Amino acid sequence: MTLSIRAAVARTANADLSLETLTLEPPREDEILVRVVASGVCHTDLVVMSGNLPTPMPVVLGHEGAGIVEAVGAKVTKVKPGDSVVMTFNTCGSCPSCADDAMAYCYEFFPRNFFATRPDGTVALKAGGDGVHSNFFGQSSWATHALAHERNVVKVDATGDALALMGPLACGIQTGAGTVMNALKVQSGKSFVCFGTGSVGLSAIMAAKVEGASTIIAVDMHDNRLALASELGATHGINAASGDVVARIKEITGGGATYALDTTGLPAVIRQAADALAPRGKVAILGAPMPGSEICLDNTDFMSTGKTLMGVVEGESDGDTFIPKLVGLWKDGVFPFDKLVRFYAFEDINQAIHDSHAGTTIKPILKIG
Ligand SMILES: [Zn+2]
Ligand SMILES: [Zn+2]
Repeated sequence: MTLSIRAAVARTANADLSLETLTLEPPREDEILVRVVASGVCHTDLVVMSGNLPTPMPVVLGHEGAGIVEAVGAKVTKVKPGDSVVMTFNTCGSCPSCADDAMAYCYEFFPRNFFATRPDGTVALKAGGDGVHSNFFGQSSWATHALAHERNVVKVDATGDALALMGPLACGIQTGAGTVMNALKVQSGKSFVCFGTGSVGLSAIMAAKVEGASTIIAVDMHDNRLALASELGATHGINAASGDVVARIKEITGGGATYALDTTGLPAVIRQAADALAPRGKVAILGAPMPGSEICLDNTDFMSTGKTLMGVVEGESDGDTFIPKLVGLWKDGVFPFDKLVRFYAFEDINQAIHDSHAGTTIKPILKIG
């Protein structure tokens, strides 16, 4: 039986979403029907809405969903109806990266998450008789119900208001925290500098504090963000407009940072992050650059000081282990990512997106069910 659902539909680029009544197919044998409780707004949703990625429209976006399993296909064993889950990025399960549990580098990451169809090309949503693209990040969770998969649902020990908070752990928050904990592997007593203090950067700063970094430097253009960064664990804040950022980092750290993270994707900022490293330092990059953008480094400095530059996707997270770890840290009070969040009613989704663009809300979450 198809299900009548409410969903936010992106019909054209650079336009408001329309809340519509659609029909959703029942789960196939390998699919999981989730009643969505809440879903976050991530920067990637905004990039798709701008038309700068080849995701087809009309489409239902949303890829930080949290909810309750309502039904499962015959082959599903990982979860059962009534389970609380979050929905993370989707992967193929059979490529060399998936075989190594390096899911974030799945060879099919792009088609599985951005094509907004099933692998066989079908879609599960209809408006009247017309197909609407579904399966965005294996979920399309800006809707009252979503179809997900064993590979991208993660069981979480949370219900009610706590469950509503958990969706962003599945993308934006795990991207920042995972880059610190899984990719850079920041060590206790070392220094860490974060360029950009949106939801990803602030999550990285909280994670660096959990890992015991002794010097945590936040760099941003906005003093109010630097103040929040300091509340969440930054020991120093640098306003990027205020002078020579690299010199200031070297002064604070006594010669350079052990670890750096760029969340901006801007080549000039990545250059600063690399230049600000101590010998043997590591810089991770995760921002979404313009297609064709290139990075320029000081060849001699970079080589002769043994620095490392690493690209990172989704914090190199294995959601099944990393998301429950973040939930545990939040319950322990040492990873207060709820301070980044503002809740919106589902019908206010366009306001939530506007506030995210404007930077007045760091991490919007839509309360859906
Ligand atoms: Zn794969
Ligand atoms: Zn995301």
